[in-house]
Amino acid sequence: MQTNSIQKAAHIIAGGGVVAFPTETVYGLGANALNPVAVARIFELKERPSFDPLIVHIDTFDWFAKLTKNIPPEIIRFAKHFMPGPLTIVLEKSEIVPHIVTSGLNTVGIRMPNNAIAQELIRLSGCPIAAPSANKFGQLSPSSAAHVRKQLPDADYILDGGSTQVGIESTIVAFHGKECILLRPGIITPEEIALHLPEGYTLVAKKTESIVAPGLLQSHYSPKKPLFIFEKLPKSFPAKSGLIVHQAIEAPKVERCIFTSQTENYTEVAAHLFSSLHAMEDDKNIEQIYIQAVAESGLGVAIMDRMKKAAFQYSGQ
Ligand code: AMP
Ligand code: MG
Repeated sequence: MQTNSIQKAAHIIAGGGVVAFPTETVYGLGANALNPVAVARIFELKERPSFDPLIVHIDTFDWFAKLTKNIPPEIIRFAKHFMPGPLTIVLEKSEIVPHIVTSGLNTVGIRMPNNAIAQELIRLSGCPIAAPSANKFGQLSPSSAAHVRKQLPDADYILDGGSTQVGIESTIVAFHGKECILLRPGIITPEEIALHLPEGYTLVAKKTESIVAPGLLQSHYSPKKPLFIFEKLPKSFPAKSGLIVHQAIEAPKVERCIFTSQTENYTEVAAHLFSSLHAMEDDKNIEQIYIQAVAESGLGVAIMDRMKKAAFQYSGQ
């Protein structure tokens, strides 16, 4: 059954269509990365601005060599350490990567997803797959096929692989000479990246002057209802409030309470972050959402990054 649906999805991709598919992070909206017309439909369906480059998903290192150029061997070794996995590496692009994929940049973001369905889809399609997250631009990222159906009913096909394990988008790094720049935090933490950097390389905080990376915009990943972050549990909440917390507490008087984890386990919090926000967004009895902050270290950096962006437009700043 699953094999049939992957074959069907691959057939659509090979024919220039657009398919939503699971990865270990979130669902992606994919098209043949080497077909600019197919890629244009991703931008159209997502209502994504053309200045926002897409990540190219591969299943083997053969594609890595074909899609990039001038990559020092130590960076290839670094990539092999993390791939397949939730890390995107931005590298100099080769001529075969269409400009629409990279929004005109001479670099391309490459990722090898660690998800059997995604890998099989790429293999059967016979091409690398350009895929941003399968949501409308600026809205909540999808961690299930139902989330995709809600926002992108017009995708040619939605490949259902259940809920994604990681739950938040990949970590993104770029290399500028001997500097490794963290463009977007994710489940692979700065500590892990620093540990595996080749000798002579340093990890630096993001530099955004020349890099267009809307994942870095202050407002992104937003629910359609006001979202507020709190550190200390408020004593009371307005009527019709939804509360999202990360450890077993006695729920205060609210319309609905969702626990992303019983024990403040950040891997669980990340996995359930977007699905809990989707659930609150979909709940007709909820008018505003309150979410508990997490400590900004380790994986907490990536979780807070998504939360702050989701809440930004409601923060009055
Ligand atoms: P999404 O897959 O929706 O999370 O979006 C992909 C993100 O990857 C973009 O918003 C950028 O932040 C980043 N990205 C992709 N390609 C590049 C690139 N060549 N240079 C810098 N950032 C990139
Ligand atoms: Mg996205």
